[in-house]
Amino acid sequence: MSDRVKYVLEESRLPRTWYNIQADLPQPLPPVLHPGTKKPIGPDDLAPLFPEALIRQEVSLEREIEIPDPVRDIYRQWRPSPLFRARRLEKALQTPARIYYKWEGVSPAGSHKPNTAVPQAYYNREAGIRRIATETGAGQWGSSLAFAGALFGIDVTVYMVRVSYNQKPYRRALMETWGARCVASPSNETESGRAILAQRPDHPGSLGIAISEAVEVAAKSGDTKYALGSVLNHVLMHQTVAGIEAMEQMALAEDYPDVIVGCTGGGSNFAGIAFPFLGAQLRGGRKVRIVAVEPAACPSLTRGKYAYDFGDTSHLTPLIKMHTLGSTFTPPGFHAGGLRYHGMGPLVSHVQELGLIESKAYPQTACFSAGVQFAKTESLLPAPEANHAVRGAIDEALRCREEGVSRAILFNLCGHGHFDMQAYMDYLSGKLVDQDYNPQELAMALSGLPSVG
Ligand SMILES: *Cc1c(COP(=O)(O)O)cnc(C)c1O
Repeated sequence: MSDRVKYVLEESRLPRTWYNIQADLPQPLPPVLHPGTKKPIGPDDLAPLFPEALIRQEVSLEREIEIPDPVRDIYRQWRPSPLFRARRLEKALQTPARIYYKWEGVSPAGSHKPNTAVPQAYYNREAGIRRIATETGAGQWGSSLAFAGALFGIDVTVYMVRVSYNQKPYRRALMETWGARCVASPSNETESGRAILAQRPDHPGSLGIAISEAVEVAAKSGDTKYALGSVLNHVLMHQTVAGIEAMEQMALAEDYPDVIVGCTGGGSNFAGIAFPFLGAQLRGGRKVRIVAVEPAACPSLTRGKYAYDFGDTSHLTPLIKMHTLGSTFTPPGFHAGGLRYHGMGPLVSHVQELGLIESKAYPQTACFSAGVQFAKTESLLPAPEANHAVRGAIDEALRCREEGVSRAILFNLCGHGHFDMQAYMDYLSGKLVDQDYNPQELAMALSGLPSVG
C-alpha cells in the first residue's frame, strides 16, 4: 500500500462528464407535482425559473452528461481537487482504519458549491439570461453564485437570511466584491417578504422564506431566472465531479472505500462524493456503506417524513417527494447555516427509502470537537457543516478500533471554515450549546404537509 498522503490528478484527468444516478436507480424517482392540480409537472412549468438545458438535466435518464468546455476551463482553476489520507488523524485516534478525505475547500469560494454555480451560470448565459435571483443561508451559496455570475457577466441578486446577513458580514462582503447585490430576507422587495414582515417586522428569516423571495422575482420577470444551490437533481449531478475524481484517486492509493461519509443539508456534497461509487455498486460493482450525517437540530433524514412538500415557505414551488420537516419548520439557531433547510434532496431521500444509504444526526458540540481534533492533526480548518462529516468519519474510525478491523473510510471535506471563526470562538470559549428542535413545532409543521391524493 502506498505511503503517500496526497493524491493529485493531472489537469488532463479532469472529468469530461458528470454522473447521473437516475440512469442506474432500481426504481425511478417519484414525479414532481404541480401544487394546484397535483399532477406531474412538465418542462413548461419550470421554464419561468430555469433555462431549458438545466430542466433537461433535471429529468434526464442518461448516465453521463457532458461537462461543457467553458465550464471545464473554469473548473481547472482548482480542479481536480486533492484527496488526502489522514495519517496524523488516524494516529491520534489509534485506529486501524484508513481515513481519506476529498478537499473541496480549494475553490475560490471555499466550498464545493462552485461545482454547480459555474455550470448554472454558464447555461443561463447560453440561454441569454442576464439576471439570476437566489437565496443563501450563511452565504456559501450566495458567494459561489456571485463568483460564477461575475465570470459569465450575469447580475446576481441574493436574498440572504436576515440573521446571517447581520451576523456574517464577511460572506456578504465577498458576494458584493464579486458584484452581487445582497438583500436581507424577509425583504420589502417581494410580496412574499412583505407578507412575512407584516406578521412579524423583526422576523429573523429562513431559507424557505428566502427561496420564496427569489422564486417570486424570477417568476415575475422575463429576464431573470432562479438558481438553487442544493436539493435539485441537476445540482447533485454537477457535484459528482468530486466523486468521479475521488474514484480515480482511490485507485492511485490502491484502495477502495468500505464506508463513505458526507454531511447533508440538501444533499449535494454528499451525493457528489457518494453517487459515483453507489452507481458502480448498482451496476454490479463493490458494495459500499454510505452514511449521511445531519444536525440533530434539523434532522430531515432521521426524523422527517418522506412525503410531498413545498420547497419554500410561501408555497410557490412545485411539490417534491422528499424527507421533510415541513416547509414552515424553523430550526433552532446553530452554526452550520448550510444545514438548516427543512427538506432533503429527492434523490438522497429516494436512495435512503431504497435502503442504499444510512443516516445519522449529531448535535453541534460533538461536531465542533471533531472539527478541532481534525484541525489539530490534519491542519485544515473545516466549515461547521463539514464538521458533521468529520464527526461521522471519526466515529466510523473509532468503531474500527473497537472491532479491531481496518476499513477504508472516505469523506467529503466540503469546505473551509475561515468565515466561520465566530463559531469556533464560541466553541473554544465554551459558549456553544446543543439546542434541540422543538418537538411541538415539528409536529405542527408536519401536520401542515400538503395532502396529495
Ligand atoms: C451549503 C453547504 C452545505 C450543505 O449543502 P449540501 O447541498 O447538503 O452539500 C454543506 N457544507 C458546506 C461547506 C456548504 O457550503
